[in-house]
Formats: sequence, C-alpha cells, structure tokens
Amino acid sequence: MRYQEAFIKTSKGGKEFDSVNATLLQKGSFIHQTMAGVYTFLPLGWRVLTKIENIVREEMNAIGSELLMPTLSPRKLWETTNRTGIDVLLQAVGANDASLKKNPGGYIVNPTHEEVITPIARQTKPSYRDLPFAVYQIQTKFRNEERPKSGLLRGREFRMKDLYSFHASKEDLDSYYEKSKSVYQAIFEHIGLGNDTVIALASGGDFTKDFSHEFQTKCEAGEDLIYHDEAQGVYYNKEVAPAELQKKIEPFAACEVGNIFPLGTKFTEAFDYTYTDESGQKQPVFMACYGIGTSRVMGVIVEKFHDDRGITWPDAVAPFTVHLVSLPKGNPAISKQAEEIYQALMGAGIDVLFDDRPDAAPGEKFADADLLGCPWRVVVSEKTGENIELKRRSEKEFEIITLDKAVNRIHGA
Ligand code: ATP
Ligand code: MG
Repeated sequence: MRYQEAFIKTSKGGKEFDSVNATLLQKGSFIHQTMAGVYTFLPLGWRVLTKIENIVREEMNAIGSELLMPTLSPRKLWETTNRTGIDVLLQAVGANDASLKKNPGGYIVNPTHEEVITPIARQTKPSYRDLPFAVYQIQTKFRNEERPKSGLLRGREFRMKDLYSFHASKEDLDSYYEKSKSVYQAIFEHIGLGNDTVIALASGGDFTKDFSHEFQTKCEAGEDLIYHDEAQGVYYNKEVAPAELQKKIEPFAACEVGNIFPLGTKFTEAFDYTYTDESGQKQPVFMACYGIGTSRVMGVIVEKFHDDRGITWPDAVAPFTVHLVSLPKGNPAISKQAEEIYQALMGAGIDVLFDDRPDAAPGEKFADADLLGCPWRVVVSEKTGENIELKRRSEKEFEIITLDKAVNRIHGA
C-alpha cells in the first residue's frame, strides 16, 4: 500500500491522551475518535485488528464453528433472562412514531449474545446426538460504559470474539472448558502477549458460584489488580483474592484481555432448553461462554510494545512487515529504483507500506516509520546505490545489503 492510500496523517508533538495506546494510535492515524469510547479503525488500524482477529479465528476454528449474530435483539429475550437491568445495556428506538408505537421498549443493542444464541441452540440442537457443540463470532459489541477511557481499553463500542459451548453434562463442559484454556494460551502466544498473560481466578458473577477465569495481561494501564500466590501457583483477581494474600504480597496491574465463564444451566433453564437422552428422559443442557476483547488486545499490545519514538508492533500483528522509504531528492532514477523494490518486495510475499511522498523530508519520513512501528525499515537513496538499507524497528544499527539478502532476512531465513 502506498502511504497516500493509507489515510495517514501523523501528528508531530500534538495532543497527549489519557493512555499510551490512545496517544500513539491516534498520532499514527490507526484510529480516529468519533466520540468518547467510539473509534473508526482507519486503514492502518483495521489491518492490525484484522490480523489479531484472524489469529483468533485460526485458533478458534479448532474448537468451534464461526457464525455471525445480529447487533439488535428484541427486549423480550432479555426479559426472559431477567437481564434488562444490566447497567451498560443500550437500547435503540426508531426515529419515527410508528416504530415507537410498535416497539415502545426499543431494541437491545447487544452487549453480549447469550440471549440470542440459546434460543437458536434450543431450536436446532434438541437431541443428545447434537451435543456437544460450540459456535463463535467476531463482532462489534455495545456497552454504555459510564467512563470510556484509555483508548481501545474501554470503549462503548468494541470488538469481541465470543464463543458459546453446549454440553450434555457438567463433566463434558469441564473438559471442553480446560481445552479452551490452552487454545486461549496459544492465541496470546501467537499475538505476542504470551509471556505476560496469566490465567486469574475471578468472580463468576451472578451466573455461577464457581470462579470464572480471566486472561490478564500485565499492564500499567490495566484496571485490574492481580495477586500471585506463588506457593499455590495461582493468580487471583483482587475481587476474589483471599484476605491473607492481600496483607502479604503486592498485587500487579493488569488488563483483562479474555474471560471464560462456566454458565452451567442459568441460560438454558431460562429458555427451557433441555435435551432428551437415550432413554427418553429430559436432561438439562450445560453451557459456557468464552470472550476475547480483540480491540482491547490491540490497545494492550501498544501499551506493552512501544518506545519514546512510537509503536514497536510484534511481527504477527504489524500493519505491514516493511516500511519502505524512498529518498529521491529530486533524482528520478532513485524514484524508479524504489518503485521496483516496492514491486519486488510484494512479489516476494511481503506486506509493504511505501512512503513515496515526493515532498516530505527524510527526517519526517524516518520519524513516521518509527511512529507507525512496522518491524522492518527499508531505505532507497543515492547513498544505497544498487543495494538497500535494512533496519529492524527495535534496533539502532542498519546494514546496506542486496535486495535478495534483505528478503531472506525479512523471511527469517
Ligand atoms: P470489564 O471487567 O473490563 O468491564 P467484562 O468482564 O465486563 O470486562 P466480558 O463480558 O467478560 O467483559 O467481555 C469479554 C471481553 O471483552 C473482556 O475480557 C474484555 O477483553 C473485552 N471487553 C469488555 N468490555 C470492554 C470494553 N468496554 N471495551 C473494550 N473491551 C471490552
Ligand atoms: Mg470479564
């Protein structure tokens, strides 16, 4: 992609926001704030989010089938589960009177989808032969958060992967639930957060007396406090940490990137979803839900991977692998060479952001490359002759080498 096509308008100096991710993602034109807690993902930001979501998708496909549920649902589904009182629930009403008359309570703009999936499951999977099964989606969720803050960490509109699993017994749920933990760990490894993400015991809310399990990434900007009981090898969210731990050890700040809940029969009972077993007996269906905040994950990555010049994206989620800088200084031969190198890198299967602006100074181009944080910078200038200059974003030293060597280096050969 050429720089001009990527909607890039970086701001030098400029406004500092309440968190590193809000500042760097807006300075780098990855996202644009439409209102508090509501962002547009500009082309650069959308590429990063898509890479994160594709990693999630790839791993989730091993344990569930992808589908897409609607944004709106009728209020009566939420009356069925007694959840119309959720404080962050948003409702939508039509702008014309006719629609208001028809639908005085408005529609629910879904903050989560248990109320949508459970009736579908009941209708399409009624027998013991249908169990177990699991479905997931990656989609925008809406929560009327009182205080949206910290850029992508707490939005009113945000992206989530949510999976729902259904089982004939608690034992079967438990074994699937354990498997989901290792799939989650693989996802966070792959994304680059593996080393700093732990599973913490947390409240099961009003769903279950059991704990739920949160995937918490160590992060100063996070809103949670986690206690590590080293003797037991267990992490606790502050809300459920045993009192004696509170006194003994210092908690660390973390951000909840995922949460899995054994829901038991709370939702299936509300929707009267039972299955008939082999002997014709009605049995309860056991259910669990599994979330990952994909847009929050993007914010957390920036909180963890940056320096004083900008973002340092992990390879797997970088918007582009190479940031190609052309410095022709009015020499058309250099522009032509840079163009050829752009084509050759793409031909070698490498994602390239090509800064071919004719009127930007070298210092400005380098500052942008650092701010945007692609893993490799390639420079073509009079100085590089037949070769190119190659530099890792995270390192100071560059080398001047042939294009072939550079391609091998980038491919990790
Ligand atoms: P929190 O405690 O941070 O409010 P939650 O426990 O209400 O989150 P869940 O219902 O468990 O959130 O949602 C699943 C995942 O969605 C969370 O683990 C988190 O990563 C993400 N998420 C939840 N709320 C938001 C939000 N307002 N903005 C961005 N991501 C969110
Ligand atoms: Mg949660």
